[in-house]
Order: sequence, then C-alpha cells, then structure tokens
Amino acid sequence: MRNKIIIVTTLLAGSFYIANAQAKHEDTEVYEPVPKVVTPGKTIGDAPSDADVLFDGKNLDQWVSAQDRNTPAQWIITDGILTVKKGTGNIETKKLYSNYQLHVEWRIPENITGQDQARGNSGVFLASLGKGDAGYELQVLDSYKNKTYVNGMAGSIYKQFIPLANAARKPGEWQCYDVIWTAPVFNADGSVLSPAKATVFFNGVLVENNVELKGATLYIGQPSYQKHGPAPIKLQAHGDKSEPISFRNIWVRPL
Ligand code: MG
Repeated sequence: MRNKIIIVTTLLAGSFYIANAQAKHEDTEVYEPVPKVVTPGKTIGDAPSDADVLFDGKNLDQWVSAQDRNTPAQWIITDGILTVKKGTGNIETKKLYSNYQLHVEWRIPENITGQDQARGNSGVFLASLGKGDAGYELQVLDSYKNKTYVNGMAGSIYKQFIPLANAARKPGEWQCYDVIWTAPVFNADGSVLSPAKATVFFNGVLVENNVELKGATLYIGQPSYQKHGPAPIKLQAHGDKSEPISFRNIWVRPL
C-alpha cells in the first residue's frame, strides 16, 4: 500500500512537471502523413458580378495596415501585381466579414531561396483578430518539393489541419485559393456556440473539407477561441529572409 502511494505520488508529480514544462513550437508540428502530390488543372477564376473586389491590380484602396488601421497599406503594386513589402507588416481589408466565399491568387518568386518555413512564407488570415498574426491562418508557402511540418504547408490551416493533397505549382507560377469560410458564433458569455469552419480549394483541388477550427491559429501552444464579431481578411508579411511573394485577383462574396 505504501509503495502504491509512493508510485502514485511520483506519477502525479511527474505529470505536474510535464504539464508545466515550457511549450515549444515543435510540440505542435506534425510530419506524417505526407499529403499526396496532385497536379492541378490550368483554370483560374475571375470575379463574379456580385463580388467585393479587394484587389484588381490598380490600388490598395480596400486595404489598411494591420498594425494601425488608420495607416494605408504599404505593399508594392507593379504591373497589376501586389507584392509583400517586408518590414511594413501585414495588411488587412477595411471592410469586416463574417461568412464568405474568397478567391486569392498568389505566386512564389521563381528565384525563391530558403527552406522549410522560410521559403515563400505568407498567409491568408480568414479572420484577423488584431495586430501581428492574430487570427485564423490559411498558410501560404512554397510547398513544391519543400519539406516542412505537414500541418504548416500550403493548404494547411496552420498547425490545425493537414491539407488533403499537395496541389502546389512550381515557384514562378500563379496559384489560387478558393475558400468558403463560416465564422464562429459565440454565446453571450463568450463560449463557442459553433466553431469556425473552412473549406479550401488549392488550385482547384479540395484540400480542406469543411474542417472545424479549434480556435485561432498559433505558432506556439494550443489553439483556443476568444469571442469576436465580423473581422477583416488579412495577408501576412512573414518575417523570414526569403524573397517576398506576390498576389493578384482577390475577391470576396459575403454569404
Ligand atoms: Mg504564414
């Protein structure tokens, strides 16, 4: 009996220690199963008549700095293409959204360098919850023969859902996301009535099938929900040293 008490006490002390050990980013990085490679078709979608056109190659009138919503977005437009300006931070839409259909096209530079998460990293935050990377991130990354944790590759809901396939095109080619986003609904006390849901097509290939998010996406630690209402859509200027990526043809249809 006494031995049992000692064993139980030791186990409890051990699990207390483990639960309180400092969280690391590796804790939430998954390497298996690796999604199968699928070669996508060629078609890319133009905005339908009822869409809010967020970027049509002309200006950033629909965008602001995510760091300070009173500051205009600082990214670069050249020949109708929007390119991340590193150091100026993330940009997000002026308008707030709840449920919607979104189309975004993006391109990894042909001369991309770096590896793993430091190779063409950006992201589409399906709802921005403030400055920096607060929100729900659909990862943008070069995933054409670039190994990383699979819940952080292109088409992943960052560190929550591995894409069902790897439909990445080569660096230098335009790629697209088509997303159906259902915003989370909260009770008055802040608890979750229904979680956020996302369906994502990557270059026309289904990669997320109505997945229910576990909360806002995080680099370190486990996701959780904080009550919020309609929110901007945000694009990420990631802090890595690789060449900045570009966007074009961005539109959204509120549902
Ligand atoms: Mg990212």
